[in-house]
Amino acid sequence: MNKEINLTIKPEFVQDYYDGYPLISGEAIVDLANVDDEGSILNLHDSKNKFIAKGYYGKQNKGFGWILSSKKDEQIDVEFFVSKIKSAIKYRDEFYSDKSTTAFRVFNGEGDGVGGLTIDFFDGYYLVTWYSIGIYELKDDILDALKSSVEYKGIYQKKRFDAKGMYLDDADDFLFGKRAPEPLIVKENDVNFAVYLDDGAMVGVFLDQKDVRKTIRDKYAKGKTVLNTFSYTGAFSVFAECGNSKKTTSVDLAKRSLQKTKEQFEVNNIDVSSQDIIVEDVFNYFKYAVRKKLLFDMVVLDPPSFARSKKHTFSASKDYVKLLKEAIQITNNGGVIVASTNSANFSMMTFRDFIKKAFKELNGKYKVEESFSLPKDFRVNPKFKEGDYLKVVFIRKLK
Ligand code: SAH
Repeated sequence: MNKEINLTIKPEFVQDYYDGYPLISGEAIVDLANVDDEGSILNLHDSKNKFIAKGYYGKQNKGFGWILSSKKDEQIDVEFFVSKIKSAIKYRDEFYSDKSTTAFRVFNGEGDGVGGLTIDFFDGYYLVTWYSIGIYELKDDILDALKSSVEYKGIYQKKRFDAKGMYLDDADDFLFGKRAPEPLIVKENDVNFAVYLDDGAMVGVFLDQKDVRKTIRDKYAKGKTVLNTFSYTGAFSVFAECGNSKKTTSVDLAKRSLQKTKEQFEVNNIDVSSQDIIVEDVFNYFKYAVRKKLLFDMVVLDPPSFARSKKHTFSASKDYVKLLKEAIQITNNGGVIVASTNSANFSMMTFRDFIKKAFKELNGKYKVEESFSLPKDFRVNPKFKEGDYLKVVFIRKLK
């Protein structure tokens, strides 16, 4: 049994929780000092001791935990998690039956009723990611629930929490069933990706960009020169090439990106020697491109929210305008910039303002062709808009 603690919510926050707001914030709680162990079940009450909702204690970013149920008598046990997982699977029926895409998100945190937990599907293998010590404390019930709800080849896990002395970067993320081949080849809209379920923090592909990749391939890439910055394993380049781009250039600072990008091309039978894969700081590459008067028909910008390299610190909320200005200078007139960010710190409206500002400062004209947020399998809780972190805008540079 998980430890249960009764807590009082400050009056000004009570209505939010009745309305279904899922994040428990420290500042909403009167008797914070009563909570010690992450993973404890928290029963939230108003100041007259009337029950509001229950959740669990798990520190994650600015949050203190997540609401799990508005029912007073709900037990947070295997059965509870089975019902959450089963309804998440039902919501994704179409993804399970689509043979052209064999990798997708099955369970998306608070969007599926349990914040701090995601489950991804990779061709029969499941990857569970824990985002706090608190949710990790509940792992036995959650894994039992997963095992009884799905047929699986194997189950893996990743721990994405960090607490001094507590965080163990397990050499081995494998849990149950059989091990996946290395690499495991999955499909996304008929394109292959090599993924590694047990090789560090990331598996090789970010599943939330699938609609953007498909759009690049099907509508924009044909005959175009494509510069893919912050390219990681080159997923955007592979899709551009599958859409018959003229040539792709992938730039990433990480040394491993060269081999990883080659591999993604190879598993799609694309001749790697006709593609450029460059290991370099993107900001240096921009300088080089300007000096050499290079121009591209399409420039993809997909930086991390925050990054520090030897010479530069990049923060999406502070530096995206600057990044756009660099990109605009090396994009052909009539060309397209795909501007992407996964920063939850600002809204789509602010992102559009960044674009406006960048073009204004360069006296340039543009037209927004289309924009994207998270795909359907990355289900968002309508009461928690911050969860819809992805913002991607296709911008046409005009003369
Ligand atoms: N666009 C990628 C995901 C990007 S992840 C995709 O679609 O899969 C962010 C990447 O940015 C990481 O691979 C990291 O190595 C790289 N990166 C961070 N700072 C950088 C910099 N200054 N120059 C080049 N790459 C950088």
